[in-house]
Amino acid sequence: MNKQDISNIKQLLSSPKKIVIVPHKNPDGDAIGSTLGLYHYLIKHHHNAQVIVPNDYPSFLKWVPGNDNIRIHDAETSACNQLINNADVIFTLDFNAFHRTGNMETVLAESDALKVMIDHHQAPDDYATYMYSDVSMSSTCEMVYHFIDLLGDESLIDTNIATCLYLGIMTDTGSFRFNCTTSTTHRIIANLIEKGADNSAIHNNVYDTNSFERLQLLGCALTNLKVIPESRAAYISLSQEELNRYHYKKGDTEGIVNYALSLDGVVLAAIFIEDKQEGIIKISLRSKGEFSVNNMSRAHFNGGGHTNAAGGRSELSLNKTIEKFISILPSYNQDLNHA
Ligand code: 5GP
Ligand code: MN
Repeated sequence: MNKQDISNIKQLLSSPKKIVIVPHKNPDGDAIGSTLGLYHYLIKHHHNAQVIVPNDYPSFLKWVPGNDNIRIHDAETSACNQLINNADVIFTLDFNAFHRTGNMETVLAESDALKVMIDHHQAPDDYATYMYSDVSMSSTCEMVYHFIDLLGDESLIDTNIATCLYLGIMTDTGSFRFNCTTSTTHRIIANLIEKGADNSAIHNNVYDTNSFERLQLLGCALTNLKVIPESRAAYISLSQEELNRYHYKKGDTEGIVNYALSLDGVVLAAIFIEDKQEGIIKISLRSKGEFSVNNMSRAHFNGGGHTNAAGGRSELSLNKTIEKFISILPSYNQDLNHA
């Protein structure tokens, strides 16, 4: 985003606008934090702002300031479509292509509103008038901080905005440990704490509110963990029957793949989660070092993401999907053994 873009956006936002803010489907901490952080900022500038998420999200994200003002497209499709059709400006946050918004794809693609993208995923589509895309960024929340700062409004960041932005930086950096975490990330985090983000409470709200069933499901997932030493890979599977047994709720499988990646010597981890309702296997891939799970997912699993964290899907059965994963590993052995 160059100086001209910033000055154009400043001009654009200098009078009240109807603004819709959208994250990707199955919103995570960064998606919720960045959209609500931007929402609070725009409200301060007297815009008529509305966050619309494609579908529902986990309860460990439902405490965030502004949560009650979020509208869910899947639940209120026609009202949400109307807001999108009437919008002057649409901010698209934490995704790189309209298809990442699921059922919102068409209404977004057909809207005449001016689009602003803020995102840190690889290979962004070219739909936005103003595009702030940077794959080196830890999180979209970190980018929203920079965006507000570039607009000269760092001093407007209050406790609500700080809380939202802290949330997404925390979740997308694995609590500040992934290698996308820079000294700048830490400086921003320090500023957000000074501006009122209660770091300890935010960690507690996200990570220490497990249900008993969720921990039992984790136990089941760890029992299903398999290692493929020659590829330095490990994977976990969860069938629909297993999810049902532990009364699976949205968000219960979040982060489980990281246990596979935490094994000493493992550089590639996968989790395969059966979704009978959608008729797909949802795949999460994680890696350490240089090995790109973004490339692997794009090539084999209809997805993408970042170098060290990507998602994808398969329309094969759970077993066939795992067989496919195992069968493609030898072609990556050289990279995996040098990662
Ligand atoms: P997760 O495994 O947690 O679903 O996703 C990991 C990362 O990859 C997240 O940043 C997510 O936004 C991204 N991601 C997940 N699924 C897809 C996909 O189908 N396409 C792309 N481009 N990115 C994805
Ligand atoms: Mn993100």
